[in-house]
Amino acid sequence: MGTPLGIFGGTFDPVHFGHLRLAEEAAESLGLERVRWIPAGQPTHRRLENKPPRVAAAHRLEMVRLAIAGNARFELDPAQTEADGPSYTVPTLERLRLSSECGAQQPLVLLVGADAFAGLPTWHRWESLFDLAHIAVAHRPGFPIETGSLPPALAAIYQQRHCDSPSALEGAPGGRIVTFAMTQLDISATQIRRLLANQGSPRYLLPDAVIAYIENQHLYPEK
Ligand code: ATP
Repeated sequence: MGTPLGIFGGTFDPVHFGHLRLAEEAAESLGLERVRWIPAGQPTHRRLENKPPRVAAAHRLEMVRLAIAGNARFELDPAQTEADGPSYTVPTLERLRLSSECGAQQPLVLLVGADAFAGLPTWHRWESLFDLAHIAVAHRPGFPIETGSLPPALAAIYQQRHCDSPSALEGAPGGRIVTFAMTQLDISATQIRRLLANQGSPRYLLPDAVIAYIENQHLYPEK
């Protein structure tokens, strides 16, 4: 069946140490061969909430490239940022499944934070996710993973599909849900954008190379 491959999508506006630790700790604790980072082009749920990304997809892609440089387990997939139109996870996974890179059998593990997991029912064709991949949910400060706090349709699926051990991920190409503990870092891109807009220092919340890029490209201008 092969070693599980991690898939990590996000807006990454900008990428920060919360994202990096999530991917690193997922790789370690879930036994992932690699983690494929897929920055969203036009994230659909954000459009629905009327919160488009603050910077262009090409910049968010470049910031992720800088952030993951030197990590042999991490790789970058530019497909969503290069595509026209909205970014949907299910078609992205379908494309991966059709490629010779992973095929139909390799376990795929979609990595999400607890807040993103709770919002799953708003995603395009969300129930098809489980035909294509497993889901691994990272704990995130302020977002408990409890059936009582999930939307009812998702709580039911969580109860059916939840497995206690990460070894369950190796036994099937997809369909299972695991949770994993990670170093709790209460960092968000929102907080970083706010700091930058108010001329605050974002140091130690995201890699220096990303901060230098933000400065050089004049992203997130001060108010
Ligand atoms: P924003 O503040 O703009 O909403 P964000 O910091 O949540 O952004 P995203 O790019 O939306 O970052 O998140 C990508 C993925 O990373 C999501 O699955 C999200 O839950 C997860 N994530 C982001 N920050 C953390 C964190 N500090 N701890 C755990 N998971 C996180």
